[in-house]
Amino acid sequence: MIIVMSQSATKEQIDNVEKKLSDLGFKTHPIFGEIKTIIGAIGDKRLLNLHSISLMPGVENLVPIMKPFKLASRELKQVPTIVEVGDVKIGGPEVIVIAGPCAIEDEQTFVDTAIKVKAAGAKILRGGAFKPRTSPYAFQGLEEDGLKIMASAREVTGLPLVTEVMDTRDVELIASYADIIQIGARNMQNFRLLREVGMTKKAILLKRGLSATIEEWLMAAEYIMAEGNLNIILCERGIRTFETATRNTIDLSAIPVVKEVSHLPIIVDPSHATGTWKYVNALSKGAIATGADGLIIEVHSDPANALCDGPQSLRPTNFSQLIKELEPVANAVGRKM
Ligand code: PEP
Ligand code: MN
Repeated sequence: MIIVMSQSATKEQIDNVEKKLSDLGFKTHPIFGEIKTIIGAIGDKRLLNLHSISLMPGVENLVPIMKPFKLASRELKQVPTIVEVGDVKIGGPEVIVIAGPCAIEDEQTFVDTAIKVKAAGAKILRGGAFKPRTSPYAFQGLEEDGLKIMASAREVTGLPLVTEVMDTRDVELIASYADIIQIGARNMQNFRLLREVGMTKKAILLKRGLSATIEEWLMAAEYIMAEGNLNIILCERGIRTFETATRNTIDLSAIPVVKEVSHLPIIVDPSHATGTWKYVNALSKGAIATGADGLIIEVHSDPANALCDGPQSLRPTNFSQLIKELEPVANAVGRKM
């Protein structure tokens, strides 16, 4: 339920409404607009006596949120959310590019790649230390040693870091190194994990599940937000379809749909979506043209010998060329790089 306070509502009246709602067991989320304040009340609506709330001083009207996701919905918050990570703003006029290898392999290559992607225009550095591999025999990541390498690359480049968490037991450790915590596609509906990262204050990169509908994906965001963490960046990374020519099928229509029903920023991962480096360029342009707030792209200095996802990784030189080609596309849709 959304409680719309009148333009003349005082701070005390807003506080009283919030108190009444929390006494009834509701979680409240006030949003202070330029003209009016609205209060999102999340909880069991059977416990809400609508009449008594609507008669409280300062209350203008009550509006139910029709979507099953509440905090993530545009109905609750009309202005787009901008997630701030250091100086980087995701969801504003600038298209943000995140880049780096699939997995952290060794310090020298990682730091070297970090310097190159930064020089090309990347604003955030990616790298996996805990890898969700299909085979238990494949390289699983360097774990905490990988996180330490990431931290030294941040030291050198100043770029904020994004890395994946797969297990509730690792959230604290990863949060102590990362600037953004990634929930991978395979864990999009790991509800305990979603709640756990919701209890941190870190920005969360929430990838779409392999066969998740947009509504299921936004419900996953809702799990994180329900714990009080509203800093979520959604990431479309391709879904499973009958097509086998690409690793997944990129769903660019998710971008305008998400923008319509949610205020959260959305970025696109053309690397995992296609599985092939040659297609990354075209789909990066498509993503920006359809309104994505950013991209996350795998870059490796030696794709042929990468321990993970070499075939979809760009060389630093190709990445640099790509960024140059993206600028006019961003400008054409009123964005900048
Ligand atoms: C990744 O970003 O390295 C990754 C494993 O992605 P996804 O969860 O989208 O497969
Ligand atoms: Mn990968």
